[in-house]
Amino acid sequence: MRRADMVARLDRHDGPWDLVVVGGGATGAGIAVDAASRGYDVLLLEQHDFGKGTSSRSTKLVHGGVRYLEQGNIALVMEALKERGLLRQNAPHLVSNLAFVVPNYDWWEAPFYGLGLKVYNALAGKYGFGASEILSREETLQRLPTIKTDGLRGGVVYYDGQFDDARLLINLMETAADQGATVLNYARVVEVTKADDGFVDGVVAEDQESGRRWTAPARVVINAAGPFSDSVRRLAEPEAQPLIAPSQGIHLVFHESFLAADSAIMVPHTSDGRVMFAIPWHGHTLVGTTDTPIDTPTLEPRPLEEEIDFILETADRYLLKPPTRADVLSVFVGIRPLVKGGDGKLTAALSRDHTIHIDASGLLTTTGGKWTTYRNMAEHTVDQAADLARLEEKPCVTRTLNVHGFHPSAERFGPLRMYGSDAQGIQDLMHETPALAQPLHSDLPYTGAEVVWAARHEMARTVEDVLARRTRALFLNARAATAMAPEVARLMAAELGWDATRMSAEVAAFTALARGYQV
Ligand SMILES: Cc1cc2nc3c(=O)[nH]c(=O)nc-3n(C[C@H](O)[C@H](O)[C@H](O)COP(=O)(O)OP(=O)(O)OC[C@H]3O[C@@H](n4cnc5c(N)ncnc54)[C@H](O)[C@@H]3O)c2cc1C
Repeated sequence: MRRADMVARLDRHDGPWDLVVVGGGATGAGIAVDAASRGYDVLLLEQHDFGKGTSSRSTKLVHGGVRYLEQGNIALVMEALKERGLLRQNAPHLVSNLAFVVPNYDWWEAPFYGLGLKVYNALAGKYGFGASEILSREETLQRLPTIKTDGLRGGVVYYDGQFDDARLLINLMETAADQGATVLNYARVVEVTKADDGFVDGVVAEDQESGRRWTAPARVVINAAGPFSDSVRRLAEPEAQPLIAPSQGIHLVFHESFLAADSAIMVPHTSDGRVMFAIPWHGHTLVGTTDTPIDTPTLEPRPLEEEIDFILETADRYLLKPPTRADVLSVFVGIRPLVKGGDGKLTAALSRDHTIHIDASGLLTTTGGKWTTYRNMAEHTVDQAADLARLEEKPCVTRTLNVHGFHPSAERFGPLRMYGSDAQGIQDLMHETPALAQPLHSDLPYTGAEVVWAARHEMARTVEDVLARRTRALFLNARAATAMAPEVARLMAAELGWDATRMSAEVAAFTALARGYQV
């Protein structure tokens, strides 16, 4: 996947595209994969890097959502559990089975959560990840050696999926490209064009690298801009009433010793009635999340001090050695594109289901949902879009479509497991140039070969793209990522032809950005 090839495809394209997708997050990528694999002619445009928005900032769970079960939303849970199973089937290199333990401190918790989690597993049917079990106090401590022991009675273990969101996103873009879609990052949609009858008939996009503009006519335009969906809708209809109630959630990342386990902790009721997780992720401990309504979405949302305090306080309630601010290696924030309910509703109670909305101008907006259900959401959206645009009917094939990198036993690639079948290419780079096999920082596993691979094959265009989304360095350890930036810039310069001025500008920009991930 090379950006120059994508630009060339766009330049030589003749006539209208079947579909133009605005937004390169989970929603847009899923639609591009679905539509291209049905045989439609698709263009996807992302204003920044793929996954710059919410889709690289999730809790990294492929899950049915135990909380929605408690709210009685059985249909939503069943759909998500099925999608969880399909994703593991189609991307086994990226989805793993993770044990979650609900620690019990009250007598009623074991029977209550024990029964609830049995139902959760039963709803998964043939897509189950493993039966839940009630644990004794000793078994709970074996699984969670760092859990607070005062008053601990036992626990309940259940199983769910875990993944790397940004890596799945890149693999989905590659899948879309393999299926013939044109996918372009750093291409911002600045206008939505209309025909004489007032119906949307395409977009104008601006290349954020060269400043040049393209007009891309389309049979249907799909707005998949997540938290930014309303601003894209207003390009077509300046008076459009907002659909999205944005809400941010933060995560704190700590050294792995705070959890020191292969199992995760699931706290079903924090002091504000939410769910909180502490999860082992890429050799670190990830804790989150919050749910704070915000007014305006931005690409680099900031954590509130009270959100940081809230997570630290909750961790303090459950961990023997509670982390402090000084232990935070990275803090990252994502914005939920929740679909509005009535006035005054808390965002935690707004719809987690996806919504397809068609404006009078014919602009189709698809939003809400969650990462886990991106495939199903894409299938519904392409069905609707094909009807709206009167495209020839073509069946969806993604239930059994392998995601790029598919490999049934990717564990054999060790730290490169996430790359699946691409791992071999990275290993080849290491053999050709042994220096590229060295980790770029002693606290993180990432090597020079991954930087070269990202620039050559994964459309990484900046130091940030490599350190935030092709690898997860920034999300794991912001200071270590900053220390890696000069070497990443040097390796990228050789691939992308940067001069010394560009290299220093890249390092300076990344250093400034990474400050926002430190507390
Ligand atoms: C804190 C948090 C935790 C979560 N945890 C989980 C989880 O564990 N499991 C799960 O299943 N789900 C989870 N989710 C939900 C999931 O992350 C989101 O539902 C999903 O990522 C939304 O994807 P999206 O593509 O709709 O939005 P985004 O990823 O934000 O993508 C929209 C894209 O549109 C682009 N864009 C905007 N305007 C334009 C324009 N004019 N031109 C071109 N491009 C434009 C943006 O740059 C952005 O990249 C979580 C969400 C949050 C906030």
